[in-house]
Amino acid sequence: MGVTLLTLKSKIITRFAPSPTGYLHLGHAYAAQEAFHFARDHEGTCLLRIEDIDHTRCKPEYIRAIYEDLDWLGFDWPLPARKQSEHKAEYWKVIETLREKGLVYRCFKTRKEMPEGLYRGKAVSDEEVRMANNEKPAWRLSIKKVEAYLGEANLPFTDEVLARKDIGTSYHVACCHDDALQGVTHIVRGMDIQPLTAFQNLLQCLMGWPVPEYHHHALRLNPDGEKLSKRNHDTSIRSLRTEGYTAQQVLDMAKP
Ligand code: GLU
Repeated sequence: MGVTLLTLKSKIITRFAPSPTGYLHLGHAYAAQEAFHFARDHEGTCLLRIEDIDHTRCKPEYIRAIYEDLDWLGFDWPLPARKQSEHKAEYWKVIETLREKGLVYRCFKTRKEMPEGLYRGKAVSDEEVRMANNEKPAWRLSIKKVEAYLGEANLPFTDEVLARKDIGTSYHVACCHDDALQGVTHIVRGMDIQPLTAFQNLLQCLMGWPVPEYHHHALRLNPDGEKLSKRNHDTSIRSLRTEGYTAQQVLDMAKP
């Protein structure tokens, strides 16, 4: 933790944290702009983080494209980008810490086997059979145990998966761990992620991590009012570049 903080003197640290599951589009150009400009306007620093824990969806070619597209848009970052796929052991330690506190449990249920609504507790009758078969479990946070641990009642959370069975970690764990590790003071990200913030705050509280200040910005939508998707190639930064737009034009076009 010390290394990153020592090399950065900024009081304000933000981050842009794309997942390399496709080419960056206008929505990302706006999100990057918000995070980098917030840092610039406050004499701070914006870091780049590659959120590539999900090997089933992320591709190296999209990571290369992120560097290229951001560079073309005129953004730079003072430290090498942190690639989450290289740090899974650190994320596992988070699960172990919570396990030592008795707050997480194994869960073999697949998504289809889950009941609707808020899920609480482990009602898996065949758990032992699955363990004996060496089936990999997911690890969930037990909200009942968290309530007892914190002396709180009726926390409005479901028993979220903190470690997926296929990748051994989760977005919440990797993201909150890295925000703490990288000394992120201000999280500037899209409104679509706002509903996840309360749960991330709970994780920060359980791990004793600082809680950054959050700014959730409006989203760049398509003319039908829908969120842009990586499948929609018309708005990818590289296709706009090929069409001859300048970086400034793309940044202007990206504003909601
Ligand atoms: N990796 C996430 C995404 O690309 C962003 C997560 C965050 O900013 O907290 O949507």
